[in-house]
Amino acid sequence: MTTTLDKSEERESSQGPRPLLEGQRNLATQIAVYAFILLPFAALIAAVPLMWGWGLSWLDVGLFAAFYTFTLLGVTVGYHRLFTHNSYKAKRPMRIMLAVMGSMAVQSPPITWVADHRRHHAFSDRDGDPHSPWLFGTSPLALARGFWHAHMGWIFERDVTNKQRFAPDLMADKDIVRVNKLFVFFTTLTFLLPAVLGGLITWSWWGALTAFFWAGFVRVAVLHHITWSTNSICHMIGERPFKSRDKAANFWPLAILSAGESWHNLHHADPTCARHGVQRGQIDISARTIWIFEKFGWVYDVRWPTEQRLARLAVGKD
Ligand SMILES: [Zn+2]
Ligand SMILES: [Zn+2]
Repeated sequence: MTTTLDKSEERESSQGPRPLLEGQRNLATQIAVYAFILLPFAALIAAVPLMWGWGLSWLDVGLFAAFYTFTLLGVTVGYHRLFTHNSYKAKRPMRIMLAVMGSMAVQSPPITWVADHRRHHAFSDRDGDPHSPWLFGTSPLALARGFWHAHMGWIFERDVTNKQRFAPDLMADKDIVRVNKLFVFFTTLTFLLPAVLGGLITWSWWGALTAFFWAGFVRVAVLHHITWSTNSICHMIGERPFKSRDKAANFWPLAILSAGESWHNLHHADPTCARHGVQRGQIDISARTIWIFEKFGWVYDVRWPTEQRLARLAVGKD
């Protein structure tokens, strides 16, 4: 069983002396969390009527796709597969770049994200998991409440995961600490950059405004919900071909939009594996990206899956 545990889980199972939480968020942070979650969400809701008829150009679509992909890979390839699980190693400029790209997804600074996510793996679908849909029971009402909690409700709770306990490696990394401190700057940049590009390319204020709306706010909101779906949907619905000690499942409809993160059953069965979509036809854009980076020599020591390991992790085989 220990072969399926990554380093963070091993640290966890040894019952460290440090508490799970390091305290509560202050009011200013709490207000910022509400603002940066709910404003893009409002933009997403406004987007549907806006799309009908006016206010969306091909340039907006292009900028949306570019910024979506850039920040999505920052979260999946960077925050998740590199910083949380060390499924490969990256050269210094690449590490910094991935931390910046992930920051621009407006989910939280890298160290906070990693601490929360390692806590999720350490306690997956048990007490202590920051976002399990199974904490309230299995009646339809409890599951509805669980879905909401796992999807976005947990973000509004003021508990702060203990970073010293769950991410001491990143707290000792000067580059990551620096990116972490610049989170407000990168959040500003992620909204401002599409507006500047839209304005310059169309040479109009209108072009700046629609790019700001679509490639800024709506893009951030869509990526928020795709990322959160891994925590909610992928712990509720889907196939479970591999042995994981929780409810993590492979949910194919989100494979493309999540860049492979929705192959979540294999991920929980083998957290340090750089590829999550390991079965035939399971498209995993993040794994492909890591593969390309490896070819360029920007990343190395990639933990690719092997046939023997997958066979051992498959359900029904011991
Ligand atoms: Zn999970
Ligand atoms: Zn993970």
